[in-house]
Amino acid sequence: MTRFPRSDYGALDLYRPDRRPVPVDLSDNTNRWGAHPDALAAVRSADEGTLTRYPDAYARDLHAAIQRRFGVPADTITTGCGSDDILDSTFRAAGPAGGAVHFAGPTFSMVEVLARMNGRTAVEVPWSRALADPDKLLENDPDVVYVCRPNNPTGLQAPRAWLDSLLGAAGSTGPLIVLDEAYADFAGESLVRQAPAHPRLLVVRTLSKAYGLAGCRVGFAVGSPEVAREVEKSRGPYKVSQIAARAAVAALNDADGWVPRTTSECVTNRERLSQALHERGLTPLPSCANFVFLPVAKGSAHAWNLALRDRGVAVRPFSDLCEAGDGLRISMAPWPMLERFLGALDQVIEKGIEQGAMLTGARSDPQTAGSAG
Ligand SMILES: *Cc1c(COP(=O)(O)O)cnc(C)c1O
Repeated sequence: MTRFPRSDYGALDLYRPDRRPVPVDLSDNTNRWGAHPDALAAVRSADEGTLTRYPDAYARDLHAAIQRRFGVPADTITTGCGSDDILDSTFRAAGPAGGAVHFAGPTFSMVEVLARMNGRTAVEVPWSRALADPDKLLENDPDVVYVCRPNNPTGLQAPRAWLDSLLGAAGSTGPLIVLDEAYADFAGESLVRQAPAHPRLLVVRTLSKAYGLAGCRVGFAVGSPEVAREVEKSRGPYKVSQIAARAAVAALNDADGWVPRTTSECVTNRERLSQALHERGLTPLPSCANFVFLPVAKGSAHAWNLALRDRGVAVRPFSDLCEAGDGLRISMAPWPMLERFLGALDQVIEKGIEQGAMLTGARSDPQTAGSAG
């Protein structure tokens, strides 16, 4: 009997986002203001050794830059090849094979995939139940509880008091609480500084969004020295390339304040786009991230996506999400790009009854999908 392929990989498939080129791409929440100029300069001025020699096994220069920017000790930091790598390593480090990862859903689709890739069971607790009672996430003794704040794809910012009661309930011997703060820059609130003092909290961050380095694949996390060390062990050496570390250090130093400047424009545009959608009688969910989730009629997300793509704009369609149903996630960008999105949207709405009908049934009650922002 063969043991290849692994039976528990079951229905797992390759990740296949629609990456066909399109004039306005608002589909993946990367930074549409471009690369961080200092990161670009650092990559362009790299010397030969950057390519020929191994990087530092655990990216000490990057630890130092994170330490400077966030004011947390170096031994509370772990880094990785994107924050996906950190989530992967964390699920592997926490608890034995066969353990459970609980998460409030809908959320980041990679969570379930990474849990299963590591032989863990992924259990979705609907956001409304989790928000009503954080203990629901702790039932049946999981090894890991994953919370995305602000949440992808809804934009929900779970209230701070709720998070504190979840952390209180986990205590110092409960599951590891993995707090994914991929979009915290756009919400203006973070638990990075609190993480080192908490025995069961790991705050995960990425440089793929506000810092504009998705192509470099750099993420990091902050927790107690013990938690950080176990995740780093599970991750293994040499996961951040020299060229990526150079770019990341330059972006984290952010000498000219590019990050807060573009972040603030992003937040302004998010509010402006939400208002423009409301003016069209639509009901986007309130968002604390760099995207807006627009609910559409059940079963219509795919048709919306194709109709917008035909008009040169890519968004990310979601179908059948737990509690949130169908929707389009629209990444924020400089306003001219969002104007093109609105133009395409208006055309699709105008175009015909069937396409117009795609919006009827759009939920007007965002409460269940998470509006506590
Ligand atoms: C985009 C995103 C990430 C970032 O992943 P990287 O591997 O760092 O590019 C992590 N978590 C969530 C929820 C995201 O949306």
